[in-house]
Amino acid sequence: MTSRTIPVAEFDLVIFGGTGDLAMRKLLPGLYRRDAAGQIPAHSRIIALARTEQDTAAFCDQARASLHEHLDQSECDAALMERFLGRLQYLFNDVTNAESWDQLVTVLDQQPEHVRVYYMAVGPSLFGVIARGLAGVGLHEGNARLVVEKPLGHDLASARSLNAEIGAVFSEDRLYRIDHYLGKETVQNLMALRFANALFEPIWNSNCIDHVQITAAESLGVGSRGSYYDRAGAMRDMVQNHLMQLLCLIAMEPPYTFEADAVRDEKLKVLRALKPIQGRDALLKTVRAQYRAGEDSPSYREEAQNPDSTTDSYVAIKAEIENWRWAGVPFYLRTGKKLRARFTEIAIVFKEPTHSVFAKVTATPVVPNVLSIRLQPDEGLQLQIMTKDPGPGGFRMHDTQLDMQFSAGRSDDWRMPDAYERLLMDVVRGNQTLFMRGDEVEAAWGWIDPIIDAWESIGQEPEAYEPGSRGPMTAMEMLARDGRRWREIEK
Ligand code: NAP
Repeated sequence: MTSRTIPVAEFDLVIFGGTGDLAMRKLLPGLYRRDAAGQIPAHSRIIALARTEQDTAAFCDQARASLHEHLDQSECDAALMERFLGRLQYLFNDVTNAESWDQLVTVLDQQPEHVRVYYMAVGPSLFGVIARGLAGVGLHEGNARLVVEKPLGHDLASARSLNAEIGAVFSEDRLYRIDHYLGKETVQNLMALRFANALFEPIWNSNCIDHVQITAAESLGVGSRGSYYDRAGAMRDMVQNHLMQLLCLIAMEPPYTFEADAVRDEKLKVLRALKPIQGRDALLKTVRAQYRAGEDSPSYREEAQNPDSTTDSYVAIKAEIENWRWAGVPFYLRTGKKLRARFTEIAIVFKEPTHSVFAKVTATPVVPNVLSIRLQPDEGLQLQIMTKDPGPGGFRMHDTQLDMQFSAGRSDDWRMPDAYERLLMDVVRGNQTLFMRGDEVEAAWGWIDPIIDAWESIGQEPEAYEPGSRGPMTAMEMLARDGRRWREIEK
């Protein structure tokens, strides 16, 4: 069983970079699943575009093989597969060649009523080139939308110029900046939890919350992405986008409605309220580190093929939000590669009870309540509460996990939809709520840039950490100074 479907309008989706990794691993499987769920209208088309000279039949062979690799075998139904492949067309076109746009015009003009979605699955240096190419042949008009994905700049200045380049052709209401974390079911559930339940809002502040931890740990190293990653590092690749978006969703005020700009206005206020980390403050409030070689695994520098690299493969930050709701509540962020496990979690750690009623009758310490929002490996929510052990004879207590599994009550073949399924259909629908606005991206860079500048001016070298570990010692010390400790990176 797949997730419930709400029909969308007939569309043509053009994937620039249709033969690449993003298209093959994420976009085509996501579209196949939506097609299998019956959400893709009968005449909708997917037009893949790249420089490789091949025809549509050869592209379909490549797509079929890739779908078999990236979907569960139970999802690969022969009739559905043929129907889906029947929607694909391939155009070979170097987008830097100004004379090569005619074929795309011919194909798209066959269905002038269709919603047009242009997905940039190419490097960001081509975003402006493609936007101008589309404008040059009038394909940017009407029902056309442009989708871009990270990296959205390298710093504030480059993010501004990227926004200006694409913004010169597509107005903000037709620009979709994807952060796929926002398409994850658990992340949307965080908003449902906060804003559709009366229970949490009164305690969602510094009166009841001690601190927040956001962890995005990976067990793998940089692998074949080494040369790209070495120019970015964990700060630019993970913190500036994914971790800061999660922080915004936890910290934002309730929007007056769940419409795009109402939600994005509230996220922007959080980004603007972040206390700057500048100069030597960076030594106390940030940690940057790089994994060393293990017994049988290469070091970061070996994988990145840069023996002098000072790029961070791990970052931890103590972020503070200067507003009434969050005064005195630190948000600890950490992300890294080659850690103990692949594990992404937001943990809201509540304060301890103000008075211990049970201190004289039990030796068991009362541990604080924790609301844990797990993004991977198993998406779901857990609430840690204290309960009494059943039975007579004393009063023994322990902490219990109230498990709020999303799969509970669903049939055995239910599966969690992938973020791209949701986001692609939202673009066709014209719903921007789960996409970043240009000013959000710039505000995030505006907070990140001074930290990177501080690292450079202090000359702070990354600390080495063991592969497969919980991260560097200084990250543990950063929390210990505040009388706290990181949550376990669970295997
Ligand atoms: P990739 O595997 O290198 O694919 C790039 C695609 O662009 C290929 O189809 C390539 O095909 C095409 N291309 C390159 N130059 C072109 C040109 N001048 N004209 C037309 N097509 C051209 O890269 P990717 O991993 O898919 O990533 C694409 C973008 O998405 C990058 O900016 C990346 O940072 C971002 N992204 C990727 C992922 C992911 O999971 N892969 C996740 C998030 C963001 P030809 O060489 O045949 O032209």
